[in-house]
Parts: sequence; structure tokens; C-alpha cells
Amino acid sequence: MHVTKDTLALIGNTPLVRLKGPSEASGCDIFGKCEFANPGASVKDRAALFIVEDAEQKGLIQPGGTIVEGTAGNTGIGLALVANAKGYKSIIVMPETQSREKMDTLRALGAELVTVPAAPYSNQGHFVHTSRRLAEETENAIWANQFDNVANRRAHIVGTAAEIWEQMEGRVDGFTCAVGTGGTLAGVGLGLKEKDEGVTIALSDPYGAALYEYYAHGELKSEGSSVAEGIGQGRITANLEGAPVDTQFRISDEEGLEWVRRLLAEEGLCLGLSSGINVAGAVRLAKELGPGKRIATILCDTGFRYLSTLYNREWLEKKDLPVFPWLAAD
Ligand code: PMP
Repeated sequence: MHVTKDTLALIGNTPLVRLKGPSEASGCDIFGKCEFANPGASVKDRAALFIVEDAEQKGLIQPGGTIVEGTAGNTGIGLALVANAKGYKSIIVMPETQSREKMDTLRALGAELVTVPAAPYSNQGHFVHTSRRLAEETENAIWANQFDNVANRRAHIVGTAAEIWEQMEGRVDGFTCAVGTGGTLAGVGLGLKEKDEGVTIALSDPYGAALYEYYAHGELKSEGSSVAEGIGQGRITANLEGAPVDTQFRISDEEGLEWVRRLLAEEGLCLGLSSGINVAGAVRLAKELGPGKRIATILCDTGFRYLSTLYNREWLEKKDLPVFPWLAAD
């Protein structure tokens, strides 16, 4: 039996699963990296650990210090767990629009939760700017700054990409995922290209994000909107700079939700919407690359985080989204 040396060593080394439905639908082998298997149940545990250990190595945080961050929730959950394990406090700033479950989870983990109204990035009340100010005002505190701190993407070069390469035995034709900070896309993209320049890296962008237009036509421009949490970026973050993006897709919530539904009903995987958008992107990439190819994507977080939204009939009806047939009215 394999035993880890401590709880932090539980982060990463997640399983890779061959997804039957998406593989059959596309004639390729599509693999999902099970990031919901991290202790905080999302891909963001990896960035949280790397950001905190980078700050420690640089001498930016002392024992008993505080980690402050603005987040859609998952990075906050990862940071709160890492902070507890290392004897730090955590202050997490979140927009009010994110799921109730993430807020309850953060409080339950012992983080100090600050919620702010959703605002554009150009507004100083935006959760990212609020968290930076809070960090400046707090003694012995660091601002994790996941969007522009490249310790985030290093977690995916050193960890996620290397693991995918090994798990797929060096036979990887393509990789795709959506972008929140860009740490995953850029990190896995750079890591895989280092192993094999021929791996195709694709962006799967939700509506409401500006990156599809940027990679397709060189202009940051958005169209429509999405209910997906944790993804949808409007600028080139430091983590995204130099990301080796070869091709791009725009994925609707309906297309992503259809894979969330199928993966749960047919394969027993309960996921969030960013995972569904990633799988939809992997199917599109498979069709572009042709039959027989091997493609990896990210299963970012657990669906248990969205019981009041994606898995709630009333909420879905209010958003005019298709309701999973087995969901009863409240
Ligand atoms: N999916 C979910 C649910 C997330 O919380 C995040 C992180 N914001 C992502 C995807 C995107 O990951 P990244 O920040 O590495 O781009």
C-alpha cells in the first residue's frame, strides 16, 4: 500500500480515467484527469500549495501569518486547507454570485469569508482588488494573487502535465481545458509541449469570456454569457502569457451540461460545469484531429459543490437551462 508522508502530499497525483461516452462519440480515446480527487475536491489545490510554498521559499510569510486571496471559491478552499496544515490563517474574498456550497465550505474550513458584489475587473470593488487591499492592510500576510502569480502554472508544469504524460505512457495527441486564471491551460500546455512539440493544445472557452476571440483573431472580445463558475477570462493574465494555444473552441453551457448529464447518468461521475465544458472541448478536438487520437482534459471539481445550482430544478428553470430528467421539483 502506498502511504503519503503528510496531508499536503495528498494534493496531486490524481487518477486519469478513460471516458467511455466521449470516446465513443468521437472515435478517439478521451481521458479525464480526476482533479475532484484532491483533498479540497478541485484542481485548485495544486495552485494553492505551490503559491504558499513559493512564498515560504521567498521568505514572504512568517509562522502564524495570513494568506489572503480573491477567488471564485475553489482556490480559497485549497488555500484554507493548505493554511490549516501549515499553521496560517486565511481570508478569502468571493463574489456573491458563486455557489452557496462554496461559501458554506469556506466557513466550515475556518477561513474568514468576505463576499463582495460582482463587478467588472476595471472596478476597484472587484474581488481581486478587494483581496489585494485586504492583504496590504493585514500584518504578516501574503496576497496569493493566483491570476498573475506564475507559481500557479508551475504547479501544472511540474505536476499535472508530467502526470498526464506518464499516465498516458508518452502517447498524447491533444489536450484541452477552459481558463479561469490560465494556470492549468498554460501549465499543462507548456509541460506537454516540453515532452513533445507535436501535442495539440486547445482552449475551450465558455461564452462571456474573451479568449476565444483573442486566440482566433488577436482581439479580446466577448459575446454572450455563461453560468459556469471558476472559468471565463477577459484578459491575458501573467499565467496565460506565452500559453501555447494551437486551436480554440467556444462551448455553450448547454453543450457542457449535456456532458455533465451523460457522465453522471452513464458513467457515475458527478462533476461541475467547467468539467462538462472541458469534455465537450475534448470531443470537438477529437473530431478536429481525426479518429484514433488520444486526448486529455481536466475534470476540475466535484458536482457536490453545485447541488443548489446545476443539480437544482428551480435554479435551472430560472436560468432557462435544460433540467436533468431525474431532478424532482422542490
Ligand atoms: N474550473 C473550476 C471549477 C475552477 O474553480 C477553476 C479555477 N478558477 C477552473 C476550472 C480553471 O482553472 P485555472 O484557474 O487553472 O484556469
